[in-house]
Amino acid sequence: SNRVCHFKLVLLGDAAVGKSCLVVRFVRDEFFEFQEPTIGAAFLTQTVQCEDATVKYEIWDTAGQERYRSLAPMYYRGAAAAIVVYDITDPDSFAGAKSWVKELQRRGDPNVIIALAGNKADLEQRRKISQEEAESYAEENGILHLVTSAKDGTNVKSLFVEIAKKLPKN
Ligand code: GDP
Ligand code: MG
Repeated sequence: SNRVCHFKLVLLGDAAVGKSCLVVRFVRDEFFEFQEPTIGAAFLTQTVQCEDATVKYEIWDTAGQERYRSLAPMYYRGAAAAIVVYDITDPDSFAGAKSWVKELQRRGDPNVIIALAGNKADLEQRRKISQEEAESYAEENGILHLVTSAKDGTNVKSLFVEIAKKLPKN
């Protein structure tokens, strides 16, 4: 069959962790060192082919700045999936990601699929958050975890494919 299933997906996380770059890599296969800061939120779509259906993502890329935080519920409300991004070189952003996961678990859709993305994997020599630390946190919280690089493309498609596999296609 080639059913097309539509899913709302939201990206959350601190400013400058690479949310917009991950989306631009996934949707257009491009990367910009000087990606413009997101104002409010940006909307993009992209599809992923699954065995059982075509998943069409309706992606809300939010601004991570504190002053936009109160707007976040508008974007994660009704979202089937959420990607919470941190920067592997920035411990504050990992703490920020944990608070976003907590907020999603409390106030998001009860069935929301959450994926934690440890971005900037290309900066391995500056890594501050170990794979083990992030993995055990993800496991405890029943969420996906992938280490990605929007810059070199590592795991970007996989991130959206792994989420697609978990989405209910009916
Ligand atoms: P956002 O605020 O979370 O949307 O972050 P942006 O996507 O605007 O990216 C912030 C900065 O980090 C930009 O200068 C990007 O070029 C850079 N960046 C994003 N992803 C990566 C990555 O995977 N590796 C590296 N080295 N830099 C990245
Ligand atoms: Mg952005």
